[in-house]
Amino acid sequence: MAATDASPHLSTRRDQAVRAAVEQGLVGPSAPVAGLLDVTGIRASAAALRAAFDAVAAPGTEILHTFAVKATPLVPVLRLLREEGIGVEVASPGELALARAAVVPPTHTVLDSPAKTSAELREALALGIAVNADNAQELARLDALVSSAPTRSPLGVRVNPQIGAGSIGALSTATATSKFGVALRDEGARAWLVRTYLDRPWLTRLHTHSGSQGVPLELMAEGVRTTYELAEEINAAAGRQQIDTLDIGGGLPVNFASDEETPTHAAYAQLLAETVPGLFDGRYGIVTEFGRSLLAKHGTLLALVEYAKESGGRPIAVTHAGVQVATRTVYAPGSWPLRIAAYDAKGLPKTGPAVAQDVAGPACFAGDLLAENHPLPLLEAGDYAAALDTGAYYFAQHYSYNSLARPGVYGFVADADGGVRFATAREPQTVEEIVAESGGGLRRGLRDL
Ligand SMILES: *Cc1c(COP(=O)(O)O)cnc(C)c1O
Repeated sequence: MAATDASPHLSTRRDQAVRAAVEQGLVGPSAPVAGLLDVTGIRASAAALRAAFDAVAAPGTEILHTFAVKATPLVPVLRLLREEGIGVEVASPGELALARAAVVPPTHTVLDSPAKTSAELREALALGIAVNADNAQELARLDALVSSAPTRSPLGVRVNPQIGAGSIGALSTATATSKFGVALRDEGARAWLVRTYLDRPWLTRLHTHSGSQGVPLELMAEGVRTTYELAEEINAAAGRQQIDTLDIGGGLPVNFASDEETPTHAAYAQLLAETVPGLFDGRYGIVTEFGRSLLAKHGTLLALVEYAKESGGRPIAVTHAGVQVATRTVYAPGSWPLRIAAYDAKGLPKTGPAVAQDVAGPACFAGDLLAENHPLPLLEAGDYAAALDTGAYYFAQHYSYNSLARPGVYGFVADADGGVRFATAREPQTVEEIVAESGGGLRRGLRDL
């Protein structure tokens, strides 16, 4: 509910925040690129996710929503979501450390990486964090750990329902040959899984994550149905409710074409209820792991236009936002187009006729373009270009090409009277930090060899 209530105001809040960021100098000549996060929008999306599943689940169903940390790996974001009742899904020692820094309790943490080391598994079991094993070799490691020390960790196996690909190959996790999980339709896999559970009474969960951007909702729901049916089969074979929780992953796609938040978590929960009614009848606890759908619409990447030039008749705005903050868009523009909004030197929305132009980044290769031949009011030096819907998988995931500094990230709340309050979610990186991270302190360095 809250997300739809908030969405008519989303662009107004964004315009207010851009203007205030320029006025307050968060972005400008000394900080030519910054990320802005709409705290009101994030809270609304978290509330809408909770409401969506509560609306279709039997009363009393245990539901844990976790946020896939890789989407926006910032501790203040994890803290904010924690306050909204959302836990974390982590996939590396770094992400687990971020979750712990945000004081997310182990009971609200799920570990899912495809390459967990023995040390990671030992730490997770000692902390009581839920773990989904990716494959038989990892299960053998869990066997050894479980028999050597008691653990409170809920343990499960990730299955790949092999339902097929969406429109973006690199993000399709449930193809026949995907690297993730146990491939359910491979010969003998189903029988092996049933036996594996019967032999290990401590395996109480089943996990799948069958979508991401580009995968249709129906296909995702199909993946969940396949996983649910396997759980039913295992429980029937066990003669008891051995699997008590289904982790259905994340993957709700995001609309990058307008401010409309669609599809909604409510639409997906409704489709799941129709496709897999048993999932919500109260016999199973549910875990979700949404990333992009919780954060994407609430981020704006704002960059100063340093120069405006023309080449071969094409106007080009040279900005400070390129491959370092929008890596996927720059390397795969066909799959990841971003909307760009134009603001003037005071941070006010630019008006005027749309002119096809390139919005370029600062990196030293020709393909470093945020948008190519894109119709916008003509950007001039001193203006600002804003890449919209960049709250997940963009500016918080820096790529250090050309040793370009990580920009500051600022959360904001826009008040009804037009005022905007900012809080820092990540300090901008300094050049001194870049030097230190690049071996600057290693004085003898390679010369001692
Ligand atoms: C990336 C990932 C997610 C989140 O995916 P989104 O598309 O951002 O919702 C959830 N679970 C797992 C296992 C993932 O790898």
